[in-house]
Order: sequence, then C-alpha cells, then structure tokens
Amino acid sequence: MARHRVVIVGSGFGGLSAAQNLDGADVDVTLIDRRNHHLFQPLLYQVATASLSTSEIAWPIRHILRRRREVTTLLATVTGVDTAGKAVVLEDGARVPYDSLIIATGARHAYFGHDEWEKFAPGLKTLEDATTIRRKLLLAFEAAEREADPDKRRALLTFVIIGAGPTGVELAGAISELARETLKGEFRTADPASARVVLIEAGDRVLANFRPELSAYTLKSLKELGVEVILGEPVTDIDASGLVYGGKRLDAECIIWAAGVQASPAAKWLGVEPDRAGRVKVEADLSVPGHPEIFVVGDTAAITMPDGKPVPGVGDGAKQGGRHAARVIRACLQNSRTFLPFRYKHAGDLATIGKRAAVIDFGWIQLKGWVAWWAWGLAHIYFLIDTKNRLAVALSWLWIYLSGQRSARLITQGEAEAKAPIKEVTDL
Ligand SMILES: Cc1cc2nc3c(=O)[nH]c(=O)nc-3n(C[C@H](O)[C@H](O)[C@H](O)COP(=O)(O)OP(=O)(O)OC[C@H]3O[C@@H](n4cnc5c(N)ncnc54)[C@H](O)[C@@H]3O)c2cc1C
Repeated sequence: MARHRVVIVGSGFGGLSAAQNLDGADVDVTLIDRRNHHLFQPLLYQVATASLSTSEIAWPIRHILRRRREVTTLLATVTGVDTAGKAVVLEDGARVPYDSLIIATGARHAYFGHDEWEKFAPGLKTLEDATTIRRKLLLAFEAAEREADPDKRRALLTFVIIGAGPTGVELAGAISELARETLKGEFRTADPASARVVLIEAGDRVLANFRPELSAYTLKSLKELGVEVILGEPVTDIDASGLVYGGKRLDAECIIWAAGVQASPAAKWLGVEPDRAGRVKVEADLSVPGHPEIFVVGDTAAITMPDGKPVPGVGDGAKQGGRHAARVIRACLQNSRTFLPFRYKHAGDLATIGKRAAVIDFGWIQLKGWVAWWAWGLAHIYFLIDTKNRLAVALSWLWIYLSGQRSARLITQGEAEAKAPIKEVTDL
C-alpha cells in the first residue's frame, strides 16, 4: 500500500516543527519553501544593524533534514491549493499531491492600506529585508560624510522606526548604539553621535503587550540610549524624504516599518473567509473547516484559545502548532482520531533594549535590566540550530559587548542603489 503523503508548505518555525515531529511516522513528507533556508527571525534585527551576518541566523533546510530519508525538500513557490484534487499548485503550474497538508507560510508586513509606503519604509521579515535595511543605514552615514548642506546632513542622520513593538524597540536601541558607539571616531565630516533615532508609535506606550511597568522601564532605557520616543501619534504619510505624524513633517532618509503584519494568502488558496489580518480561521484541532486533512499553523492561522484569547503570532506558537498538526496526523494514521484540540502554552514575552538591557515577562516572574538581557541571550543561543552558530553568535555578542564593534558592517548589495544617494559634492 502507498505510504501516506504529507505536504508541508513553509519551513519556518511552524513547518519545520511539523516535519521534525513526524519523525518515525509511517509517512512520506514533502517540504516546500520558496527559500532554501530556515530563518531565525527573532535575530533579524541584529543582521539589519550589522551585529550578525546572515549565515549566523539561517540554515539550509536540506541540511537540517539530511538524515530524514523520507523527507523531500523542494525549493518552489506555492500559488494555490486544489482542495478537491488534493494537490498543492506551484508557480510553474506543477502539482504536488497530498493526503495531508500542513500550511505554515507565515506573514508579511502590512501597511494598513498604504502599500506605496513600502518602498520608502521597508519592513523586516526576511534576510533580504535585513540586508536592505543594513545597506540603507550604512549608506546614510556614508552619504552624510559627503553632504555639505547641514539640513540635508541632518535628514540623512535621522533614522525613524515606525511601531514600538519588540522589533521596533530592538531596532531603535541597536541603531542608536551603532551610531554612538560603533561608528565613533570613524567619520571626519559627519558626526554619527549626532544621529537622531526616532521611534514613533500610534498607541500610548511602547511594548503594548507587556505589563505597564515593563513598558515604562523600556521607555526610560530607550531615552537613556538617546532614542526619541513619540507616542500616540499615528504616521499619516511617508515619502522618499520623510514622513508626517500628528500633522508634523519629519525629514528622514532612513525609515523602517515595524508596525503591522498580514498573513500569507493561504485563505485565498483554500477559498475560505480570512480574519482581518488575512489569517485562516481554523478549528480547535488546527484543521480547516470542512477539510480535516488540511492544517494551518503559525502566523497564517487565527486560533482562539478556550479562554477566548488569540494565540499570539510568535515563534513558539508556530512551533507548538506544527507539533500539534503532526500529532493529529499520527493519530489519524493509527485510526485513533479522537478530536485533539490544540492547547497553546505561552512561555513569555521578551525584548531587548540595546546590548545591556532587556525586559522579560514570564507571567509568574518579570525581569528587567542586564539580568533579563542575559536570560534573553541564553534563550536565543539555545534556540539556534547548531553548535557552530551558537558559538559564533555568542562570540559576536561578547565582542560587541566588550568593544562596541560590529563586524557585519558591509555594504554588499544593490550596486546601483548603493551609488544613488551619494551626491556629487565638490566644496567640502
Ligand atoms: C523581525 C522579527 C522578530 C521577531 N521576534 C520574535 C521573538 O523575539 N520571539 C518570538 O517568539 N517570535 C518573534 N517573531 C515572530 C516569529 O518569528 C513568527 O511568529 C514565526 O516565524 C511564525 O512562524 P511561521 O512558521 O508561521 O512562519 P515563518 O517562520 O515566517 O515561515 C514561513 C515560511 O513559509 C515560506 N513561504 C511563504 N510563502 C510561501 C509560498 N507561497 N510558497 C512557499 N513557501 C512560502 C517562507 O519562505 C518561510 O520560510 C519575530 C518576527 C519578526 C519578523
């Protein structure tokens, strides 16, 4: 008899966890991703701010699963699902048949109906996003060094981050340290320490998901790092040379979007009604209504816990979802499919503020300051994929901590773009 075919779309936290938890089951697995690597998104901001290099936070999927002979890895983009014919449709029209399907295609940033802002204010979700932001940041300092007009130089040295969730806070702290510590003494005309790092948030506090006392601590710590925090002011316009918030214009060459996310188009593929963030509203066992053979996990799924609270879009939620979908498939194969509802366990909320402080809310205990930073650092090193990367990241952090120097300060992409912002200046 032919073996049960499981197709997993997406090899992020959810998809990889599903594949790992199917180890030993009597199934053939096909894992499809449009990228060849599994990415540890929580450390993307460190690539964007030149602390880590891309290969320290991403691993070839094929290599991770090399010992699993029953797993086939395909580099391809999924564009649809034929639910009646039980096949996943790829961009080139090819079809990959399945008996069970797990969709874990994550989310992208959302611009609240202003997609035209994306080219001026990139978001941070992929390695390409991170290196684009890194290039933008480093080029701004280079262009400022050659800029004679003080107003233009000020605009070049104004870095704005929109959205004060964990990613926005982490980016703001790291950019401020990059300007004030790492680049110190390396420029002759521009003074990197004079850079303005502005964090704009529409809500009334930073880290709105954390307890108010941790938000207050974060605000104080950001200010000590030299970050200007603007609260309660939604951004209403963004263009190539700046933005408008609360009716005020701010000239800035480097703007980063960290304000909202939209799920992948899986709901469209499945022909189901999405929620407001584009996610698929799944049953309590993570299957799609009317399709017990299809599961959606991670950032693409809208899951409500028994207490009515939504499962947050975090790495651990995706991992637990992937593990649960694998468990339901195993139960089905053993003909013991009693209904298995997903029970999400929230481990805690974490965010760093520069290289010396962090806030952690485990629910039963809250930590802040350097103790929290060490707990955050150890947790992240533990979750990295292999020993070499754990050592490399730990060494990079130790070096940055002791010397302030970031080794990944390379402008490597986009030759044409790289040249564009540097204007001809002859009268310096
Ligand atoms: C900057 C940043 C920082 C974060 N920090 C934290 C943190 O500190 N702690 C935490 O818990 N969470 C954090 N998160 C959230 C966490 O990373 C996500 O919740 C988690 O990655 C979701 O897992 P997922 O499997 O649903 O999607 P992802 O991990 O995003 O994986 C989706 C995969 O699907 C693939 N894919 C997408 N569309 C297609 C397609 N059409 N065809 C083929 N493949 C496709 C993608 O290439 C990707 O590999 C952070 C996220 C970001 C962006």
